[in-house]
Amino acid sequence: MVPSGRPVSRTRIRELLDAHDLGPSRALGQNFLCDQGMVDKIVRLAGVGPDDHVLEIGPGLGSLTAGLCATGARVVAVEIDRHLIPALTDQVGHHQETGRLTIINADVRELDWASVLGDHRWAVVANLPYNIATPLILDLLAEQPQLDRWVVMVQREAGERLVARPGSRTYGIPSVLLAYWAEARIVGSVPADLFLPRPNVESVLVEIRRRPQVGGATDREFTRFRHLVRTAFGQRRKMLRKSLAGVADVDQLAAAGIDPTQRPEELDLDRWLRLTATVAPGKRDAS
Ligand code: SAM
Repeated sequence: MVPSGRPVSRTRIRELLDAHDLGPSRALGQNFLCDQGMVDKIVRLAGVGPDDHVLEIGPGLGSLTAGLCATGARVVAVEIDRHLIPALTDQVGHHQETGRLTIINADVRELDWASVLGDHRWAVVANLPYNIATPLILDLLAEQPQLDRWVVMVQREAGERLVARPGSRTYGIPSVLLAYWAEARIVGSVPADLFLPRPNVESVLVEIRRRPQVGGATDREFTRFRHLVRTAFGQRRKMLRKSLAGVADVDQLAAAGIDPTQRPEELDLDRWLRLTATVAPGKRDAS
């Protein structure tokens, strides 16, 4: 057993890996944060305190978990890799004894959400596994309304797509789908050399704040919205009258205030919502 509760450092992460005979799994996106200053910054940006419920996805070796627990928040940490659990427990297990930390060994995509979330609103604070970050964020925004505000670390490219505004090169399906539920912005950069092992990419911190629902926000409306967005961006360079042929005709585009010669990257959320309403069942079923 390695002494617990020590600050995060490259030495400490190596010590935990060696003591438990572990090697980082590339398939699970295991790049462990080794910098206490960055942990402190993330916790500060998340703005969590003793009254908060915090979900951490992928605690790994507990770098961020320790910082979150130190705020007095109640933390639920969901880690898929059972081999990491003993090392994670070495680092942060003492917080379990106070009832502040619950470690769940599970795939976050298959969590029993009702039993984990209860009646509370939650903050999500995580250094997300890069390979699943974008679909995970979009699925959880759509499916778990109690996940309220987020500060998450993702690959820079993915972060830029999530926060992109209309007219920019990076504005696309993730930007529009995220905008349906929330507002997002990049709040920090994280250099690759703060991780063990060092990833090939830079990372950014993205703050996501769920806002009051913009559309009718029924499942059916969102499904229709998503279908339109995916269809149009599926042929990104084409004019909307071409890319949406068979889904929305020129009259419907005009009724939504859209010039049929526009391309999908030119439409803001409001236009996408108006188009969704225009092609609603009774007018045309696009779901
Ligand atoms: N939070 C730690 C840190 O900052 O050092 C580790 C971050 S690492 C980038 C991603 C973590 O997510 C790994 O511990 C990995 O095993 C875990 N993970 C990957 N896929 C997961 C999934 N589907 N559900 C839960 N955890 C997952």
